[in-house]
Parts: sequence; structure tokens; C-alpha cells
Amino acid sequence: MKIPFLDLGAAYRELKPNIDDAIRRVLDSGWYILGPEVEAFEEEWAAFCGAGHAVGLANGLDALTLALRALGIGADDEVIVPSNTYIATWLAVSAVGARPVPVEPDPTTHNIDPDLIEAAMTAKTRAILPVHLYGQPADLDPILSIARKHKLAVIEDAAQAHCAEYKGKRVGAHGDVVCWSFYPGKNLGALGDGGAITTNRADIADRIRLLRNYGSREKYVNEIQGTNSRLDPIQAAVLRVKLNYLEDWTDRRRTIAGMYQEGLADTGLILPHVPNWAAPAWHLYVVRTQDRDVLQTELATSGVGTLIHYPIPPHMQKAYEGLSIDADTLPLASTLATEVISLPIGPQMSQQSAGHVVGTLRNLR
Ligand SMILES: *Cc1c(COP(=O)(O)O)cnc(C)c1O
Repeated sequence: MKIPFLDLGAAYRELKPNIDDAIRRVLDSGWYILGPEVEAFEEEWAAFCGAGHAVGLANGLDALTLALRALGIGADDEVIVPSNTYIATWLAVSAVGARPVPVEPDPTTHNIDPDLIEAAMTAKTRAILPVHLYGQPADLDPILSIARKHKLAVIEDAAQAHCAEYKGKRVGAHGDVVCWSFYPGKNLGALGDGGAITTNRADIADRIRLLRNYGSREKYVNEIQGTNSRLDPIQAAVLRVKLNYLEDWTDRRRTIAGMYQEGLADTGLILPHVPNWAAPAWHLYVVRTQDRDVLQTELATSGVGTLIHYPIPPHMQKAYEGLSIDADTLPLASTLATEVISLPIGPQMSQQSAGHVVGTLRNLR
């Protein structure tokens, strides 16, 4: 039995007639930039997230970058970011000319540790950028209260957290802006690049709408120096189809995660810790072990595909050598990179396959 880490084609095959119809509808409409399909998706996505506004963008990195720009964050500013994240979180901060200031994760959840944030703040700190990594919501309440106390903005990187819940409420409108990616492999994935922000703040939604479209509300009238970062209507149409299945598909992920949590409990692997206030979206199911590389090879030999999220943390990337961050100052992020391994999970993965992964791991340990 061969089990791929993720079968992207399977999601398309499950919904092929609906997706093909949606794409054809856009092709026939003659409307290929923004327009009704993007507006409809924005309304539906905002409603799903319990947010007042959604703005469709070209990708998740742009969502983060434009959120920072909309808040006026730029040169000489500092933004608190997790040390344990995908590099896009940091790149957005750098892209606006600000400095990413890393904070270590909570050792049990691997998400930013709110207790360490205030020590990392300086007079230049303007925002906190928590990431709901692997689809596990970050502990937002303490983060929001630190932000209120110090008058900082909160920008959430929810690129992995579609449908995740924090204290019974969906991620999507806790902070000032919430940033989404619809990269094909995400829990709500397009058939190409896509992104969005959601927010309850009309001023921010309006600003990002301007920024994504050359700073223009009215054709050839430019209020600010914007950019081009528009969600493609074909992708919006595809996302509208898939959005109808997101809750169901998240439930399927939760079933597989539940099988792993139970079946792997006594294997010596460190399993994801789920605080009682969290309902994760299980974008990734990440376990920890010191013999990670050996385990990955053994699993591959047994036909089980795995990936490492992420093998090199941002502070150890060549791209960030200019910040001169000593790996010893971020020991947990540095260690996680050598110990984490992501097991196969996805809405089209069968329970039989998940059972096979459990059985294989139990045999190996
Ligand atoms: C995927 C991802 C992004 C970037 O999204 P793109 O659409 O690929 O630009 C940002 N942050 C995190 C945590 C991600 O997983």
C-alpha cells in the first residue's frame, strides 16, 4: 500500500463536475479581473469567518504584506513574529522594510508563547503577528490583551487555519486583520495562487482594496501608490465550490487526526498537544522525535510519504543572515527543525490509509 503525503488531484476529482462548471461560467462571462465572482466569494468567505469584510488577493504573502502596509507599518518599525513558522511570515515584515523580531514557541503547542512577547518588545514595536501553525489556533486572548495594553496591532497569519476555532469561535476576526492563503495545498485551496484578508475594520478593508488595485477605486484615478494583487475570478469561482465542503473536509481531517492521536499515543512519539480551547483545522499533523531522519526513511521504505515543516527555521536561512540571529538564542525553533515530521493527512485520505499509517508506525517503534 502506497500512501502519498497529500494527493491534490483527489480533491479536484471529488468535485470535478462542479469545479468544471464554475470555471466555464467565468470563461463564458467575459469578466476576467475582479468582478462578480470575486465579490461573491468575498461575501461568502467573510460570512464563513464571522468577519465584517473579506478582500480577495493574489496570494497569502501579499495578504500579510498588504495588511502591514494598510496599518502603516514600514521602515524602522518592529513586528513580533514566531521563531517557528514558515518563512513567508517573516518575509512580509521584511518586504515593508520593518524588522521581524522572533519569539519562541510554547513547547507543547509549537505556537508563539504569549508569555515571552513583552520581553521582546521595544519602543519600535508596532504589531504582533501570531501564526496559527499547522492549523492549531495560537493563544489569542493573551496576545490581544498585550496588544491592547501597548497599543499594538494584531495581524494573524491564518494561512494554515481555515475553519480552526479558538474558544468556540472561528479564526477570522479576532485580531485587526487576518491573512489567508488559498495555495493549492492549504485546507481551502485554489487551483493556483490565491489569498485574502478578513477583518471587522472597514478602514483596513477599504485600504487593502485600494492597495490591491493600483491604489485605484475608479479606473485611472489613483489615490495611493498601490500594487497589483487581485484574486483571479477563476480561482474565486473554484473557491466558492470548495467552500461548500470546507466544514465536511475539516471533519474528515479531524477524524484522521483523532485516529493518529489515539493510535500513536504509546509509541514514544511526541504527539500534537491540543489545549481544551482549541479546535484545530489539522492542516498538518506534526509529531516530534529525536530520530526523525531515520523514521522518515523507514516510513518511505514502507510506502508512507512524509514531509518536514520546516527543515530550516527562518533565522537560520541564508536570506536572514543579515539579522545575525544566533541559533542558540532561539533553541526551541532550532531543535524543532531537526525533530518534527508531518504525517499524511487530508480530506480525501481514507480511514483505511490512516489506519495503515498507524499500523506501520506501531511496527517501526
Ligand atoms: C502558505 C503560507 C503562507 C504564504 O501563502 P502563499 O499563498 O503561498 O503566499 C504564509 N504563511 C504561512 C504560515 C503559510 O503556511
